[in-house]
Amino acid sequence: MTEHTVVIVGGGPTGLMLAAELALARVDVAVVERRAGQELAGSRAGGLHSRTIEVLDQRGVADRFLTAGQVMQVAGFAFARLDISDFPTRHNYGLALRQNHIEPILAGWVAELPVTFYREREVTGFAQDDTGVDVEVSDGRSLRAEYLVGCDGGRSLIRKTAGIDFPGWDPSVSYLIAEVDVGEEPAWGIRHGEHGVNAIGKLDDGKRAGVVLVEERVRQGDDPSVGELRNALVAVYGTDYGVHDVTFLSRFTDTTRQAASYRDRRVLLAGDAAHVHSPAGGQGLNIGVQDAVNLGWKLAQVVHRTSPESLLDSYEAERHPIGARVLRLTMAQTALQRGDERTNALRETVSELLGMDEPRKRYAAMMSGLDVHYDLGEGHPLLGRRMPDLDLVTADAPLRVFTLLHDARPVLLDLGEPRGLDISRWAERVRLVHAEYRGRWELPVLGEVRPPTAVLIRPDGYVAWVADDGTDAALSDALTTWFGSPRIATGREATRS
Ligand SMILES: Cc1cc2nc3c(=O)[nH]c(=O)nc-3n(C[C@H](O)[C@H](O)[C@H](O)COP(=O)(O)OP(=O)(O)OC[C@H]3O[C@@H](n4cnc5c(N)ncnc54)[C@H](O)[C@@H]3O)c2cc1C
Repeated sequence: MTEHTVVIVGGGPTGLMLAAELALARVDVAVVERRAGQELAGSRAGGLHSRTIEVLDQRGVADRFLTAGQVMQVAGFAFARLDISDFPTRHNYGLALRQNHIEPILAGWVAELPVTFYREREVTGFAQDDTGVDVEVSDGRSLRAEYLVGCDGGRSLIRKTAGIDFPGWDPSVSYLIAEVDVGEEPAWGIRHGEHGVNAIGKLDDGKRAGVVLVEERVRQGDDPSVGELRNALVAVYGTDYGVHDVTFLSRFTDTTRQAASYRDRRVLLAGDAAHVHSPAGGQGLNIGVQDAVNLGWKLAQVVHRTSPESLLDSYEAERHPIGARVLRLTMAQTALQRGDERTNALRETVSELLGMDEPRKRYAAMMSGLDVHYDLGEGHPLLGRRMPDLDLVTADAPLRVFTLLHDARPVLLDLGEPRGLDISRWAERVRLVHAEYRGRWELPVLGEVRPPTAVLIRPDGYVAWVADDGTDAALSDALTTWFGSPRIATGREATRS
């Protein structure tokens, strides 16, 4: 039996991100992945939203993605484009980059970190006890881990084996998705149908076509036939455009479900394993990556015994509501995609509303992930929100806040008088940085907020504690909650205090 501290099942976007987070936190982590590499049948997700780009920037790898894709305004709701170019973020845009490009870039980064991969094999089952999990792998091998994380997609074996319910809604619509050659010029662009939206667009080579077609009746199953594709084209466009050389053909639906719980003792779920929904609004990959960034540092602290197991409860408490919100937003958009006259009128009305500044800002912040607000109690508006990537001045040099987060460690940013906040008893865990910031403090939607004098930033970039009066009231509590009990003071330290 081979031992790892954490075993991740599934090396898709969520599993790769989680592996990176755990490796950065010096956890012995292994990924079991069915596929030989990152090749995907079809291109799936179309890009990254602003907050996901920020999260990658926090780890110093955003440029790898930005140089491979095309920066543009990608946020939208029910066909209303939501421009975020006036948002206070360095990445006031999204990135058009297909999942079949995103995954190899993520995998390239993970390959630079100490992560063990078991590829071309599947996890076939597991059993957990009080101290760990025995994981069965299809090559006959057994792995033993302290924790097992199911990042194994919507049909998650891990979720099913753990007996975690997956309540939600059966599909109301099904789509065929294909990559084809066409014998004649098709009607490029979008065409509304009675049950949803059809689209034909050029693929990366500028010649072949990517096709998404609503089926007249809801169907399920991954392997539709070329005959079904031709029939669906004729039903929508009156011709099949002489499609041939179909290199990819699949089906997706708007099945909408969320795991009732993200954790069963030593087994956790993240990404599509925890939530599935329609691709409307392009959220799935994005929230999967952000689940991973929320979970990674917490799990690392638990396995390093710096935090109690209860820290893991905050993963579900914070991420389940985000998933539920995405489910609601995608269901609303699916309904608005229908093509009957009443729905058309409703869609136009929603578009008009979203053309107004305040609704545009609120929905744009939601769809781009920039408005995430974890409930960490009452206090300064920064509390529980993303830390902006400010340009700081330190004694040594200018410094961006996100640069401080590259190694996925917590940071206490002291912006007040250099009288010194004392965190010596957390010194090995939390980095203390003295800096100056002379600019405005601005958050998406909320606008300008009062300047804090100190900010405690979690490794995922969310603010865990704020002072705006120069004092350290409740700092010890926040440090203990998020980064474990203080180290016992040595005799000399105790005498000093
Ligand atoms: C048509 C379409 C368009 C989409 N567009 C967007 C978009 O624009 N934006 C967006 O954010 N999202 C989009 N999505 C959703 C996005 O593709 C998913 O949300 C994302 O892939 C989820 O990542 P994941 O890592 O959680 O799961 P997955 O990508 O499903 O990865 C799971 C991995 O686990 C492996 N695996 C499964 N079971 C086992 C096992 N037992 N043992 C070993 N390995 C296993 C699989 O091989 C796979 O690699 C779209 C999806 C579709 C279908």
